[in-house]
Amino acid sequence: MKIGVLCLQGAFIEHINIFNKLGIETFEIRQKKHIQQHFDAIVLPGGESTTMGKLLKDLDIFDILVDKINNNMPVFGTCAGLLLLSKEIDNDHRRHLATLNVVAKRNAYGRQLGSFNTIEKFDGKDIPMTFIRAPYIDKVGEGVEILSVVDNKIVAVRQNNQLATAFHPELTDCYDVHKYFINMIKENNK
Ligand code: GLN
Repeated sequence: MKIGVLCLQGAFIEHINIFNKLGIETFEIRQKKHIQQHFDAIVLPGGESTTMGKLLKDLDIFDILVDKINNNMPVFGTCAGLLLLSKEIDNDHRRHLATLNVVAKRNAYGRQLGSFNTIEKFDGKDIPMTFIRAPYIDKVGEGVEILSVVDNKIVAVRQNNQLATAFHPELTDCYDVHKYFINMIKENNK
């Protein structure tokens, strides 16, 4: 199993370290040539969604990623990665990959709660969650399963092979979300 981690900016190294600790091979996606090989899944890290969305276009990677996701390649987006996947962002006119059937709200927590840690359920199990200028999901469309709700806001979802969290599981020492994603990839490779 080989996972391509988008390494244009943001918190990508933390994802790589966790997958490597779990014995999973990763490689860095920085240029178009990097995705012209066989691999099994994509990670879109946290960072700045507008910057990443623009770079994906400038580097001519954008359409290839959309095609792969639409052809059911597993993808895991955290925070800005969730925004890259969202079909709609209700306080931003921009759309990015737009493969995930949700409406997200960017920088959705007020000043006081701009960044915070909590322990809440993911897929029924308590895990630590770190939010940094995070989005949340306002609405989910057809086919979207809700995996986490914090303060009545949806913060983790799955739609077929797409997994997205508003929080940063790569910034904690709990690897449950990464393990959940690895299982999605295993199922997909069966
Ligand atoms: N606020 C960022 C954005 O809108 C996301 C923050 C993050 O990824 N931690 O893209």
